[in-house]
Amino acid sequence: MSYKILVATRSFGSTSSKPWDVLNQAGCEIVKADMSQKMTEERLIELLQGVDGAIIGVVPMTAYVLEQSPTLKVVSMHGVGVDHIDLAAAEQRGVVIANCLGVNDQSVADLTIGLMISIARDLPSVDRKVREGGWGAHAGSELWKKTIGLVGLGRIGRGVANRALGFDMKVLAYDPYIKSDGLGQEISLVSFDEVIQESDFVSLHAALTEETRHMIGAKQLKAMKPTAYLVNTSRGALVDEVALYDALSKKQIAGAALDAYEVEPPKDNPLLQLENIVVTTHIGAHTRESIERVGVMAAENVLQTL
Ligand code: NAD
Repeated sequence: MSYKILVATRSFGSTSSKPWDVLNQAGCEIVKADMSQKMTEERLIELLQGVDGAIIGVVPMTAYVLEQSPTLKVVSMHGVGVDHIDLAAAEQRGVVIANCLGVNDQSVADLTIGLMISIARDLPSVDRKVREGGWGAHAGSELWKKTIGLVGLGRIGRGVANRALGFDMKVLAYDPYIKSDGLGQEISLVSFDEVIQESDFVSLHAALTEETRHMIGAKQLKAMKPTAYLVNTSRGALVDEVALYDALSKKQIAGAALDAYEVEPPKDNPLLQLENIVVTTHIGAHTRESIERVGVMAAENVLQTL
């Protein structure tokens, strides 16, 4: 039986043909969405007509879209995080929602350490300075023997912890849903307040839920060390960006490195006017290796379910 599969994500199979091979070898009819156009609910519904399975990025998989797509049986996220999918509506409609857990966490953990060094040494502005013909000493901060506080100790949080231990960092973590058994002595599970108050780098790796939305707000930013940095490679909405702008412009904290924003792309976001931030374009999972692994897993998720 031949299945019709919608691919509505820019990066699926962009670094290797393997993800496409999985679908082609199963004899699938592939519908590739033009991702240069804005993905509205109406466009997504149109693309989903007659489709059995979909591989998607961050597109509006709302209750309305699910209702209007009667042939759809399975959706695999091309990556991790299903907070933009109406899970209750999917369950009601009997549409299986799949995730790609455990295949992109190493890339995100790498980027997190990269962003920590980047903000602590102000790499983007140093790079600009040299290109503009400038030179001069620039005192940054070390990671070595500093304290990192992880908010969320899942796959990515643990990947960051392991890397941070290589910098001889003290690793604190707050995660109310895990136990300390099997963690090893190098990682101390502590309260949220301790992570906020004692860390030189507060790094966010919690899933976005109603509980974690805006968990970093004015109160937490005020409680951080004035020399501390905030790093967010998770989801933008974990942070109240208005409060972050206020804290950074008043130099209440030393800086922030962001890969995720409340609204993406962060066009006209006032945070971009500040000097003490480093920003990337939600590239956490965007490595050649990870894109290949995620694509293969998303294709297999859809085929196995069908
Ligand atoms: P995971 O499910 O392995 O870990 C998430 C952790 O968050 C879990 O351990 C969970 O217990 C914890 N958590 C839940 N509620 C919490 C709370 N209130 N306080 C503290 N911790 C809480 O997921 P993961 O693979 O480690 O990914 C983490 C997040 O990173 C994802 O949800 C996703 O939003 C984000 N992500 C970003 C990129 C990127 O490109 N920047 C790529 C992949 C994932």
